[in-house]
Amino acid sequence: VVTSADGKNYVIGTDTTFAPFEFRDSSGEMTGIDMDLIRAIAEDQGFTVEIRSLGFNAALQALSSNQVDGVIAGMSITDERKKIYDFSEPYFESGVQMAIAQNDTEITGYESLKGKTVVAKTGSEGETYAKSIAEQYGFTVQSLDQSATMYESVKSGNAVAVFDDYPVLAYGIAQGNGLKTVTDKVPGGSYGFAVNKGQNPELLAAFNDGLAKMKADGSYQALLDKYLAEPK
Ligand code: GLN
Repeated sequence: VVTSADGKNYVIGTDTTFAPFEFRDSSGEMTGIDMDLIRAIAEDQGFTVEIRSLGFNAALQALSSNQVDGVIAGMSITDERKKIYDFSEPYFESGVQMAIAQNDTEITGYESLKGKTVVAKTGSEGETYAKSIAEQYGFTVQSLDQSATMYESVKSGNAVAVFDDYPVLAYGIAQGNGLKTVTDKVPGGSYGFAVNKGQNPELLAAFNDGLAKMKADGSYQALLDKYLAEPK
């Protein structure tokens, strides 16, 4: 017997500010690609969601301890995470990039990081990547919980660079957040919706079904365009 998500209410954990995937609009509501996506799928599949803006690492911890039913947070599907979470079909290609302050002329690549401090988000792919090259280039990685704090830290000079997801950096830079990139993107895992391993299989199935329908009827592309299309 396969249980259905229909009629159920699910608690969904997410990041705080990770625009354009999740952020607060001017009225304080959580909005963004992930938020619209999970709400549209919920509506299509007949379930309801309660969004908890917990922060990325906190959302993952909450999922591990079954305090939330699912996480949608620009969360990359990785082999490591697949050991403890079940992921939906991928819905967005991503990866990591480094960004520095816009007025910084000193940092021209990873070679310039010797003896310096960079920031990355606790538990993120960006953190894993930064740590993987830290010894080679002789820099220190400081982990912070929120993208907003990381960017402030770079702009104030407490750190010289931030490692974060490139779609998020690109969106922020296009909005004039005071950062710029000088190194190539590092392709990484695509984003997926996650449930705790073996838990809520009906929710995962409903997500995949809703996503497939949205991809087929063009509403997923329309959702991406809403947040990512270049202003004309
Ligand atoms: N995609 C990255 C990861 O899964 C970062 C996600 C985030 O910061 N919300 O690690």
